[in-house]
Amino acid sequence: MLKLSAPDVGKEEAEAVASVLCSGNLVQGEECRAFEIELAAYLDSPEVVLVSSGTAALHLSLLAIGIGPGDAVLLPNFTFTATANAVSLTGARPVLTDVDSRNYNISSKTLIDTIEAYAGAERLRAVLPVHEFGCPVDMDSIMAIASEYKLLVVEDAACALGAEHQGRKAGTFGLAGCFSFHPRKTLTTGEGGAICTSDASVAHKLRVLRNHGMESYSGKIDFVMPGYNYRMTDIQAAIGRVQLRKFPAALEKRRQLVATYLQNLSNISGLRLPEKMPGHSWQSFMVVLEKYIDRTEIITRLREHGFESNLGAQSIVSQKSYSYCFRPYMREWNSLRLYESGLVLPFCEGYSASTLETVSRSLLIAMEKASE
Ligand SMILES: *Cc1c(COP(=O)(O)O)cnc(C)c1O
Repeated sequence: MLKLSAPDVGKEEAEAVASVLCSGNLVQGEECRAFEIELAAYLDSPEVVLVSSGTAALHLSLLAIGIGPGDAVLLPNFTFTATANAVSLTGARPVLTDVDSRNYNISSKTLIDTIEAYAGAERLRAVLPVHEFGCPVDMDSIMAIASEYKLLVVEDAACALGAEHQGRKAGTFGLAGCFSFHPRKTLTTGEGGAICTSDASVAHKLRVLRNHGMESYSGKIDFVMPGYNYRMTDIQAAIGRVQLRKFPAALEKRRQLVATYLQNLSNISGLRLPEKMPGHSWQSFMVVLEKYIDRTEIITRLREHGFESNLGAQSIVSQKSYSYCFRPYMREWNSLRLYESGLVLPFCEGYSASTLETVSRSLLIAMEKASE
């Protein structure tokens, strides 16, 4: 079975891990320091703070900018549940905004509609745009709205390392930008995450919070606030450094491969293709089925052909733990449609164009059978 994606890890990563193990320094050592510096250079961001996962990155960022009980945080209703969990875990209340049906991201329209309709008791303090599947959010307009409504911005760029809006890296627009290095993402350390920020005091707070609330100055150690253990290991950082060296080529390959899907799927009826936004990093390739097509049937048929496929992301408000969330009244939600009819196809830099052509042919057959 061809999986949705396969992490590109091998001999080089294994050697890097072996040398960390032999060094005896497993945490908070040279590999972590070096990976932070290299990532900061790649992102063109002054500071990068490594953490244990993308979820930890989101949780710590929200805490570091002072989000907590009594606050409300805007986020898209189409994302991985971790985005909403991070907000919830701070004690703040998620406020859900719809997304654009073509690029699956929040837009200035969906954001303003939600802000204007908001009637909850908690104070709207922040917005958490998600660069879904690596598609860059139009951050210029989001930043303008944030400044008009006095909202702090934390970017969920968990899927979007390398994505760019107007030549600037996703994650570097807000007060903090969060990345995940889970194996389903474009660069992996097994588990892992990172936060970039250009605010030195936020960076400092992140470093204290990820390490038990510990601060050290002139050789003296003190625990200045209750913190977490959200640290990345040097074993993970060593993998990440190898991955980062290979990353620009991998990203280029993904951008080229997408053309194969767009071309081969363009004539299949009952199917909508994602918008080819400039600067997209294509962590996942999701199409949207028309309502009359049964997605479960398509997934089953593709599996019979040897291809894994799956739904793309969650509608947060459709999950049991988030049914209480505020969201504006709307007759038809794009995010609900995407949740019900989105289909992620196998895609990563390691798959060949001819493999993607075969997937496309299998999808065509499955779609024809499903419409009979
Ligand atoms: C993967 C992902 C996360 C969570 O990252 P983990 O490293 O798995 O904790 C958060 N938000 C989005 C949009 C993601 O895709």
